[in-house]
Amino acid sequence: MARIELKNVRKSFGGLEVIKGVDMRIEDGEFAVFVGPSGCGKSTLLRMIAGLETITSGSFVLDGREMNDVAPDRRGIAMVFQSYALYPHMTVAENMGFSLEVQGRPRADIRREVEAVAERLQLTPLLDRRPQELSGGQRQRVAIGRAIIKSPAVILFDEPLSNLDAGLRVQMRSELQTLHRTTRATIVYVTHDQVEAMTLADKIFVLKEGNVMQADHPIGLYDAPANAFVAQFIGSPR
Ligand code: ADP
Ligand code: MG
Repeated sequence: MARIELKNVRKSFGGLEVIKGVDMRIEDGEFAVFVGPSGCGKSTLLRMIAGLETITSGSFVLDGREMNDVAPDRRGIAMVFQSYALYPHMTVAENMGFSLEVQGRPRADIRREVEAVAERLQLTPLLDRRPQELSGGQRQRVAIGRAIIKSPAVILFDEPLSNLDAGLRVQMRSELQTLHRTTRATIVYVTHDQVEAMTLADKIFVLKEGNVMQADHPIGLYDAPANAFVAQFIGSPR
């Protein structure tokens, strides 16, 4: 059974259809990447999986169960945004522990979980700082910490590295690979950066104007692009 399945998913905003009948399967533990030019519908797809956007028609199935009408916080899915979306008035520790606090977990439990996640993400010395005192890379680590603290089965990333400088992007890429290896979570990752996609993905979905042009592992796409658009986007010589 696929971890995530989209079946003929469509999305319209007003009269404009921006997702045009997408089918996809993402297996348990896979690192899936959506690539495609700006405006092709990557964020909209991710937001529908997260439950932040309704699905106009078709279905989103998680572990065999249709989730279209399930509230975002009941999906077992966490999302990391490009803009970090941290709470400015809370410390790093409070930001990371917030979702556990909402669940009503005991203080001591929360502190233990926060410390464990901080250790993994090298955030221990920063636990009492506030987001505005941190660098971009540190903020993005806090956002990742906040996402993984509940051990979600699925983690969604929407262009998480695009606000970081080139050197830090390369470093964060390898941190994401470690995160994937150690959590074994299923990851759905959006980027418009081909190199990032080729480095990170088990499976890449190439999108254009609300359609999936091709879905394959990186080598498959590179060796046998389905059309000129995919070839050009992936940087394949064919
Ligand atoms: P990407 O993330 O690939 O850049 P998006 O999913 O953000 O693309 O957008 C896909 C299309 O949907 C774009 O044409 C965008 O303008 C449109 N769109 C996205 N969100 C909304 C919205 N809330 N209302 C109207 N149009 C939207
Ligand atoms: Mg986007």
